[in-house]
Amino acid sequence: MSRSRASAQASEARERYREMSVAEFFAKNKELAGFANPTRALYQTVRELVENALDATDTHGILPEITIIIRERPDLEPGGSERVTRYTVTVEDNGIGVPATEIANAFGKVLYSSKYVIRQTRGMYGLGVKAAVLYGQATSGQPVEVVSAPIGSPYVYMKKLFIDMKKNKPVIVEEAQWKRRGRWHGTRVSITLQGDWPRARSRIVEYVKRTAIIAPYATITLITPEGVVYHYPRTTRKMPKPPREAKPHPHGIDLEQLKLIIINTKAKTLKDMLVTEFQSVGEKTATDFLREVGLDADMDPKKLLERGNGRKLSLLADKLRTYRGFRAPRSDYLSPIGEELIKIGLQRMFSPEWVGAVTRSPKAYEGHPFIVEVGIAYGGAIKPMEEPLLLRYANKIPLLYEEREDVSWKVLSRINWRLYGVEFPAPLVVLVHIASTKVPYKGVGKESISEVPEIESEIRAAIQEVARGLRIYLSRKRREAEVRRKIVSIAKYIPEIARSLAVLSKPPDKWSPPEPGEERSIIDSLVRIVAENVEVPQVNGETADPIQIVRSVIENVRVEER
Ligand code: ADP
Ligand code: MG
Repeated sequence: MSRSRASAQASEARERYREMSVAEFFAKNKELAGFANPTRALYQTVRELVENALDATDTHGILPEITIIIRERPDLEPGGSERVTRYTVTVEDNGIGVPATEIANAFGKVLYSSKYVIRQTRGMYGLGVKAAVLYGQATSGQPVEVVSAPIGSPYVYMKKLFIDMKKNKPVIVEEAQWKRRGRWHGTRVSITLQGDWPRARSRIVEYVKRTAIIAPYATITLITPEGVVYHYPRTTRKMPKPPREAKPHPHGIDLEQLKLIIINTKAKTLKDMLVTEFQSVGEKTATDFLREVGLDADMDPKKLLERGNGRKLSLLADKLRTYRGFRAPRSDYLSPIGEELIKIGLQRMFSPEWVGAVTRSPKAYEGHPFIVEVGIAYGGAIKPMEEPLLLRYANKIPLLYEEREDVSWKVLSRINWRLYGVEFPAPLVVLVHIASTKVPYKGVGKESISEVPEIESEIRAAIQEVARGLRIYLSRKRREAEVRRKIVSIAKYIPEIARSLAVLSKPPDKWSPPEPGEERSIIDSLVRIVAENVEVPQVNGETADPIQIVRSVIENVRVEER
């Protein structure tokens, strides 16, 4: 091989390196954020906007009022043979609004967020709305339009912007501001994108419906491209207590996070740093801990960052993660929905004959607190199905895709429902909600939750707890049916016996057909005798009146005879 050919081959084998901005990365890997195709993209856009709207309302103690409008945009159809449909998705909320100075970055810079704190919010990656904006600008050429009236601001601000993919920066193409008239505060966001409404319709409608189940305190309206209006007015003004921001728990910290804490802390001693920068660490715990680790409590924490102290630093990080003496992560920062609201939500959407719910006590995995809640609805208007209908939620977001990959599905599919008196096909709905400052999603599209053992066992325990209530209800119901059957078998003879007795109770020479009054009083006494001798179980916490039951049986028997 000649020299020049060899070097040409070598240069071909050389790779070309360059950097990619995070905006470009997500624009090129749309499926990672849930934008795999026009159907998913439309669904995901609605979802990201609704999540932000809810985070801007109930997370701040505001009763949410959210309107979602999806419009077809024939004016943006390309000419020729290409057949694509564009839609504008507009979501308006009555939330806290976005400060004028933050609008551009919040909607135009990937990984920019107000939610990078330890708090139970729906958003957590700083990505959602930007993924929708990127998809929108790539498929429709239209900018995102944001109109926001921040709480307390005398102005309303409007900005239209694109994302500069290479620089991961907003490019504002139009902006305006005007004096606020009226009392509206909140945000309205419009994103135009290529979508497939006919295919996405059922999922989007289901998403809105399931959001209304978990947030019965919200008023949610969806207006579809056909002009169909789905309106879910709030059925209660009771709201869960909003989540609060927490400090990190030592068990959830790794070496890099520890370095950041040390860089940012104002504490002058190691002990002080532990007490002020972490939750669940008091003075005494800090002292005990540092003694056990063998570090000087009065040392300046910044010293740990100096060369030569690397071993000490990683020792500290390791011990923080594993030390057993810290209190459990604080969970009073979390915002579960609560048993009452879960029951209200299930009741309004399914009109079941029985509903039960439980909010379990808080647990933790890797230093992150979480709470599992379960609601079960049975019977009534629910149609019997081959398997239970599972409604999955994480931090009050409904999860619709990737059901079979979700930890809740795994647990639910292993529940033996016969133990609870349920035989399939059965009218059974199971709602599972996981609230946490860190939900372990499997991907940034936030559709399924990983099989964290601590979460798995809590879900199982929660389902079992509520299912036991269902079992009690069903066995009472069965007993009542049994009693009814017995009553029927006796009571159906009552009218006949009464008639005969009315005749026989007279002396033979006075025999004549009984008067209606005579017969009635005999029936009454027979009814009383039967009723006194049956035990009527409670159903739904009420005891039925046995006399009523026997009477209704007699009535029905008569009707049947006729
Ligand atoms: P995330 O929700 O994960 O923070 P997003 O990209 O969806 O990421 O949103 C970025 C930020 O924009 C949010 O953290 C929030 O501060 C702000 N934001 C978006 N939508 C709204 C809204 N409707 N009301 C108030 N703030 C909003
Ligand atoms: Mg978001």
